[in-house]
Amino acid sequence: MSDLRGLRAWWSARRRFEFCLTVAMVIAFTGFCGALIMLPNSALPKPHTAQATADVVGQGPATDPRLAEVRRSIEPFGPILARQVATGDGQQSLVVGHPAQRTEIDVLEHELAAATAAVTDVWGKDWAQATTVVVASSPSEFAGLVHAGSMSAEVAAASVADPFAPGTQPTGQRIVFSPDAGRRLDPAGLRTMLRHELTHIATRAETRDGAPLWMLEGFADYIAHRGQGQRFADIAPTLTAQARRHDLPGDLPADPDFTGRNAAGTYEQAWSVCAYIADKYDQPRLVELYRQIAAARQSPDTEDQILQNVLGTTRADFVADWRNWLSTQAV
Ligand SMILES: [Zn+2]
Repeated sequence: MSDLRGLRAWWSARRRFEFCLTVAMVIAFTGFCGALIMLPNSALPKPHTAQATADVVGQGPATDPRLAEVRRSIEPFGPILARQVATGDGQQSLVVGHPAQRTEIDVLEHELAAATAAVTDVWGKDWAQATTVVVASSPSEFAGLVHAGSMSAEVAAASVADPFAPGTQPTGQRIVFSPDAGRRLDPAGLRTMLRHELTHIATRAETRDGAPLWMLEGFADYIAHRGQGQRFADIAPTLTAQARRHDLPGDLPADPDFTGRNAAGTYEQAWSVCAYIADKYDQPRLVELYRQIAAARQSPDTEDQILQNVLGTTRADFVADWRNWLSTQAV
């Protein structure tokens, strides 16, 4: 058991690295997802064999295209376990997988309503508030669910959407957890990852490909960790160590730093930028900053203009104040 706990702790420490791969996939797969196919409710999952333990909990609408689409993708991999969860404004979300992933499905089913509310609490109600969450049972199933030819073993979860035009709401959005996610992450880690991915889902319509990752990933981590009672050093251990060495980052995190060896620390920095904005200014201005920064690719000049518009400060002063704030947090 101690080996298992050690493994989980190790993966939990790495989970922000896994997030970085996730956002790349949000962008990469947007253009590859097929349209949903409507199927009647009679197409609800059925066990493959009489001994199978697949079940469907909850009553959905007469047709549920999300369940039908997922079923088409995962039925070849065995009996299906599907749960419907009431989430936000009378919406129904869906958690789907196989009996072998029942533990993760149980956790995600338990967490989904609160996670949806946590995202809405910051972002507002202007998103679907109904999400499909799928737990894959094998790497090939995972790849199929995110419409990829293959998937890196490093990726623990991915967010997918159908192609959509700017100004319209995305459809076909789903979060897919890898077959190893439950082994890598304890329930608290799954909760954090679910909230992080749900933030990407909620903000997708307002997020343009190529917008700065410090804003996209920082905001998702801000919502993921918000209200969890964690200390700064728990959320950002690498950054805390840097600050104690007086080795603070010199600028906002650059996109290439969200992959590679130092990705976990980069994610911590991005989270801290958003935590700083919410602390020094307020949460509504953090949300407004997200909407403006995420709306396009940015340069230091355009970021400067937006920071002046939303926060009334220059980019240089913003970075300097963030660094000062970091030094007060990491004591
Ligand atoms: Zn992310």
